[in-house]
Amino acid sequence: MWILIFTSVITIWVASLCKMFYMSSSSAKYYFLSRGGASGKRNVLLVVAHPDDESMFFSPTINYLTEMGHNLHILCLSIGNADGLGNIRKDELYRACAELKVPHQQVKVLDHPDLQDGFGKVWSHSVMLKVIEEEVMSNRIDAIITFDSYGISGHCNHRDVHYAVRKLLQDPSHRDIEAWELVSTSILRKYSGPVDIWISTLSSSKSIDGSAYCILNQQPWRSFHAMSKHSSQWVWFRKLFVSFSSYTYINMLQRIDA
Ligand SMILES: [Zn+2]
Repeated sequence: MWILIFTSVITIWVASLCKMFYMSSSSAKYYFLSRGGASGKRNVLLVVAHPDDESMFFSPTINYLTEMGHNLHILCLSIGNADGLGNIRKDELYRACAELKVPHQQVKVLDHPDLQDGFGKVWSHSVMLKVIEEEVMSNRIDAIITFDSYGISGHCNHRDVHYAVRKLLQDPSHRDIEAWELVSTSILRKYSGPVDIWISTLSSSKSIDGSAYCILNQQPWRSFHAMSKHSSQWVWFRKLFVSFSSYTYINMLQRIDA
């Protein structure tokens, strides 16, 4: 009985991986952020809360953007100093970004007294807004990607980042910025690894107006390597999380309407 269950799970897992590689090599993948200027390249800003958010949650999107040649900037709003390892984690973020092919000069990590890592630490929306706005202006950003209002893990810092981006979009001067949020899924889907592809592709295919996209990770091994650069965080349960997390394989992105 157990052998049958185990064999079925392995078969579904492998079939899902095959579907992922097949679909990610098809032309459908080229649609997300395809509306560019003359060069077709976009200036994209990924806003996260802590070092490792980029590798743990957003790596399918990062791999897609770098592969497509878009100009990706990453803004991390804290050094992740909840355990006093902030400076180590900051260096780890740069190493992970190098693995993800994001140039060092396009990664910014903040260590602001009003934006310190931790549960129950409410982040200043006005400080976040100012910092994100500066980044948008100095790099002529035309697309932003960030957490949704639940923030995948429900962490309050992730949720605060979402609200700051939403606030920025309400400013008429930033009306032209296209913003996208990473969709939080149920716990079952969250830990279903590549198997979630069946549900994600189905729900994104319903979005005929282009307000939702399913991004498949063509290089999941790169995501593992990137996460392993966060050595201080690379403990057994995170290795398990990265292996079983659907966010290692798939990113469902939904357009944020201001
Ligand atoms: Zn985080």
